[in-house]
Amino acid sequence: MDIDDEVVIIGAGICGLATALALHRKGINNVVMERSETLRNTTGAAIGIRQNGWRALDQLGVAETLRRTAILIHRDRTVSLDDGKVHEILMKGEFRCLRRKDLIDTLYDELPSTTVKFGCQLESIKLDPNTSKPVLRFSDGSAILAKVLIGCDGGKSIVADFLNVKPTKKFSFCAVRGLSNYPNGHSFDHDFVRITKDNKFLGIIPIDDHSEDEKKEAVMDVDDEVVIIGAGICGLATALALHKKGIKSVVMERSESLRNTTGSAIGIRQNGWRALDQLGVAETLRHTAIAIQRERIVSLADGKVEEIPMKGETRCLRRKDLIDTLYDALPPATVKFGCQLESIKLDQITTKPVLRFIDGSSIIAKVVIGCDGGKSIVADFLNLKPTKMFSICGVRGLSNYRDGHSFAHEFLRIRKDNKLVGRLPIDEHLVYWFCAHPYVPGDERNWEDPEEIRRSTLDLLSDYPKEIQEMIEITDVKTLSFSHLRYRAPWDLLMGTFCKGTVTIAGDAMHVMGPFLGQGGSAGLEDAIVLARNLAQMGSIHVESRRKVTVQGVEEAFNLYVKQRKMRVIRLSLQTYLTGMLLGASSHLKKLLCIVLLFLLFRNPSGHIDYDCGCL
Ligand SMILES: Cc1cc2nc3c(=O)[nH]c(=O)nc-3n(C[C@H](O)[C@H](O)[C@H](O)COP(=O)(O)OP(=O)(O)OC[C@H]3O[C@@H](n4cnc5c(N)ncnc54)[C@H](O)[C@@H]3O)c2cc1C
Repeated sequence: MDIDDEVVIIGAGICGLATALALHRKGINNVVMERSETLRNTTGAAIGIRQNGWRALDQLGVAETLRRTAILIHRDRTVSLDDGKVHEILMKGEFRCLRRKDLIDTLYDELPSTTVKFGCQLESIKLDPNTSKPVLRFSDGSAILAKVLIGCDGGKSIVADFLNVKPTKKFSFCAVRGLSNYPNGHSFDHDFVRITKDNKFLGIIPIDDHSEDEKKEAVMDVDDEVVIIGAGICGLATALALHKKGIKSVVMERSESLRNTTGSAIGIRQNGWRALDQLGVAETLRHTAIAIQRERIVSLADGKVEEIPMKGETRCLRRKDLIDTLYDALPPATVKFGCQLESIKLDQITTKPVLRFIDGSSIIAKVVIGCDGGKSIVADFLNLKPTKMFSICGVRGLSNYRDGHSFAHEFLRIRKDNKLVGRLPIDEHLVYWFCAHPYVPGDERNWEDPEEIRRSTLDLLSDYPKEIQEMIEITDVKTLSFSHLRYRAPWDLLMGTFCKGTVTIAGDAMHVMGPFLGQGGSAGLEDAIVLARNLAQMGSIHVESRRKVTVQGVEEAFNLYVKQRKMRVIRLSLQTYLTGMLLGASSHLKKLLCIVLLFLLFRNPSGHIDYDCGCL
């Protein structure tokens, strides 16, 4: 790409975004290349800005907005715990401590929407021998011929290396930082307090000043909205399904941004595509992934190969594509980020659900749908039995073949002992893979570290074909994840109560089931369609141009939803459970029992894809 008319900035941190905004204010086109997949607005907690910084923010035209987010600090107080001395000085000039998120988001929001390109990690720079323009090479293999380059790529800068700047050095000091939230307000003065002892130093700066009274006022009554907890696949699909039926909803998500980078990819079978068609997003998503034509199961133990033509439409979607597409189809501001539900109880007088969030705020809701995943707080409120853990864990990732892969458009599964590797191409370059293997209790390995995940998986699959090992070797580390697989027991689903008054659950919150049939996500999409259809038919009335939910109707709609979904999710969960048990079973007797039950109960093993959730 030759982006001749633009300045290229590397890094969308504070400096990169501020530079982009300053150039934009002066009418100079620019593009910011950021290696992360989203704004890095959650790291680093907060940042103190002195009067010189405020002068710069004033020039950028964002100071007034930011002043509203943080109190003014009046004093600088140093306390020495060694000799008890306190040194106080009045703060010179304007000093405020900003949440980094506020600063980064405010700068970003002022930029034209396409300025920042995410997921672009600069790997190297050299000068083009003919034009002597800088050629930037990115880790996904793409390259840019730039005219002007500004490196705002932080302390380990590749642009600084290109300029032959000597490497940065490290202090013999380290630092820890964080934000503490006092739900009932803190009682600190508006001071920058430094407490020193020996060679340790603790700094405390208040950002805002919520008093208890202000917090009480934060109890919001969102009477005309359905409150959905969790912006995963199911929460977003439910919000979209309701939106399509004219019912307004708000989605409260605990993360600070869309969780579109975890889990790498997801297989969607024909029942899932039916639901996506109803949501009106299937066509967009079909363009992002190839159709899988057949299934092939290889047993490395005896060399047997079983080939099954793929029934119905199957594609493997990047989770990011699915989540982003659902999100983009929602009205702006439907999802509220940084809202972690802490508890639910029923208001004693109105019996409406009162949702309490970890920042101390509360919402009185009329209708609540818990799409808060496998460790659901809404499920706890409904007194569902806790979910259980399989004795199996899963690793997954995305491998990018820069020159294209040569794999058939097939879902390949390779078994050996009690290990299972699955491989699904997403497009001609990108391949999704997963590996399920027994979970070792007390395993000391750091499964949070992607490099450790890669190393351990390669060790585990050392007896697998070379192409499988190569696939794992080239996996993009950012996409590698490990999970100890969780399920809600089929018998708990049978006995459980999935709604109480105007509160219900959907997706993994109801039926987390393990990945062995690749149906958990699609089952959540089906939930969304059935739930929204029932709410529109029985739980709401037309008011002006949209629908308003009615308490009595919602209870009926939820009861019908649970009735319509229960057998479907019990069957899916049971088949998944038996398949998982078969994989993890150590005794022959257990294996035999699983095989017999699977044969008796699920004569058509892929019958689960025939389910039709119906029209929205
Ligand atoms: C290894 C593996 C492979 C899989 N493969 C497939 C597949 O191929 N096909 C398929 O269909 N399914 C697959 N699944 C299952 C699928 O990933 C899940 O069923 C699906 O992601 C569940 O979506 P969800 O929205 O219900 O829950 P989640 O994706 O867990 O989303 C829950 C959301 O709620 C938020 N949240 C949680 N608690 C709170 C709180 N207290 N307050 C506010 N927000 C909260 C979370 O941050 C999250 O955003 C797989 C699962 C695994 C583990």
